[in-house]
Amino acid sequence: MDGTRSDTAIDWARVRADFPILDRQVHGKPLVYLDSANTGQKPDCVIAAVDDFYRRHNANVSRAVHALGSEATAAYEGARGKLARFFNVAADELVLCSGTTFAINLVAYSWALPRLQPGDTILLTRMEHHANIVPWQLIAQRTGATIRVVELLPDGSLDLDALFTLMTPEVRLLGLAHVSNVLGTVNPVAAICKEAAKRGITTVIDGSQAAPHMPVDIAALGCDFYAATGHKISGPTGTGVLWARREHLAAMPPFLGGGEMIKEVRFDGTVFNDAPHKFEAGTPNIAGFVGLGAAVDYLSAIGMANIAAREQDLLAHATEELSNIDGLRVFGTAPDKAAVISFAIDGTHSHDLATLLDLEGVAVRSGQHCAHPLLQSLGVGTTCRASLAFYNNHAEIEAFIVALRKVHGLLG
Ligand code: PLP
Repeated sequence: MDGTRSDTAIDWARVRADFPILDRQVHGKPLVYLDSANTGQKPDCVIAAVDDFYRRHNANVSRAVHALGSEATAAYEGARGKLARFFNVAADELVLCSGTTFAINLVAYSWALPRLQPGDTILLTRMEHHANIVPWQLIAQRTGATIRVVELLPDGSLDLDALFTLMTPEVRLLGLAHVSNVLGTVNPVAAICKEAAKRGITTVIDGSQAAPHMPVDIAALGCDFYAATGHKISGPTGTGVLWARREHLAAMPPFLGGGEMIKEVRFDGTVFNDAPHKFEAGTPNIAGFVGLGAAVDYLSAIGMANIAAREQDLLAHATEELSNIDGLRVFGTAPDKAAVISFAIDGTHSHDLATLLDLEGVAVRSGQHCAHPLLQSLGVGTTCRASLAFYNNHAEIEAFIVALRKVHGLLG
């Protein structure tokens, strides 16, 4: 896996120039894109890989014996191999899917639904995204299992004492974000999975917000399932991965049925394909995965450790500047934090702030960030969220702060 390299000599201005959209103007102002936690921007090489696939290699995978079919299959399976190396896992344990939402639903319906029963408990945390809450609610309704929630400490870190206390014998499954999409909190996933494994609890890690910001070595985490989304790591939308231990994949029934996921179909019974293909019914997003393969090549060439260090530098700058704005509160100050900053300003609504910031060219997200239970506990209806990526720069942070002071003045 990449990510251990640490090269301080990276020319970040050149890296930034790889992202054509960042040259845009919005409302007559230079775009300052601070919404990468929502979706990441795409470098030229990803756009070119998708373009080249459709221009030169487009065909369906695994079905055609002709040259284009072989090329498309090789490109798609090649992307699986790249993703496996990126996450340090075996390619045959990596299911390619449309994103984290699909991945967690797959685990919910294929692993949990046949196994859970009344008396069982699903453990979740207050900081989960709806994608790691709602599927479990649906499964709890169907199986009679109950959901228990681990609360947070005031700085937005997980209350680990409470978590370990709540890991009682009825708990069958723990759903946990690697990084919070609202608070930026980085959870100590390896330590938590170790405790869960001792108690026979199956762990489902939502890696959507970790994969863009840091090296992710799934093998080192000791989890059972790990989900990540391609569009947040510079890849196309509609791409993502689910990693699962081989024994889980072998034991799980298919989630969706159709072409690609079978070896033989007869009216008196169907023989399913081996994993991971057993979970990839229908024509996949082939061009999307070709693009995602190019994206992880690109990120690996920069080095995920370098990306993490760069983003920490930008995060420190932005946090320092925001601390000087009167009435502004940042939610999420855990010591281990990714470059995601949720904030509110007393007496202003986050939608008003975000709308006025947009007129200044600054794109931030406003709302509940698909995390209603977390927002309910923060005591604010909504927040603004500025999320940074390695392609942002210090000048953009200055521009953001100037714009924020201006709109704050207008609203104040
Ligand atoms: N989990 C977290 C923590 C997220 O931030 C997101 C996306 O915002 C998701 C899950 C859902 O990802 P997707 O919509 O790509 O399935």
